[in-house]
Amino acid sequence: MTIESNMVVTLNYKLSNHTTGEKIEETTPENPMVFLYGVGGIIPEFEQNIQGKKVGDTFAFSIESSNAYGVSSPEQIVKIPVSVFVDESGKFNEEHIFVGALVPMSDNEGNHLRGTVLSITAEEVEMDFNHPLAGIDLKFEGSVADVRPATQEEIDHGHVHGPHGHQH
Ligand SMILES: [Zn+2]
Repeated sequence: MTIESNMVVTLNYKLSNHTTGEKIEETTPENPMVFLYGVGGIIPEFEQNIQGKKVGDTFAFSIESSNAYGVSSPEQIVKIPVSVFVDESGKFNEEHIFVGALVPMSDNEGNHLRGTVLSITAEEVEMDFNHPLAGIDLKFEGSVADVRPATQEEIDHGHVHGPHGHQH
């Protein structure tokens, strides 16, 4: 069975920064990547690179940042008044807000975002809302652990069911 639309694919892979070689993340045998091929939600170029592969096949390819998580935009770096992070008693939330922290936030429309704290002054917290992988060329190396046809229910739902998928 080969990887194509409406197949459930299980992969093990290592993701690294193509430029520096630094490892970004790696799946484990207990926690592989399991997904329904061809329904979106995966970087399109990632899917193109594994199309037609079968169990046991390996892969190694890189994807430029512009085709992955996009380029880093200066407009996504914003300064937020320190008062936003102060509780009723006037205490700054230093437990969660520190340089390098990844902080869940929401914008004016209630969208959930995550920002990385770049710097903190007496007045402002500077945060970067670019995707953590924006501007990074990605390198994927791995192997195909399983390929099976999706059930009709999985196709209807647009996601995988079972141990590594939605349990409902
Ligand atoms: Zn479902």
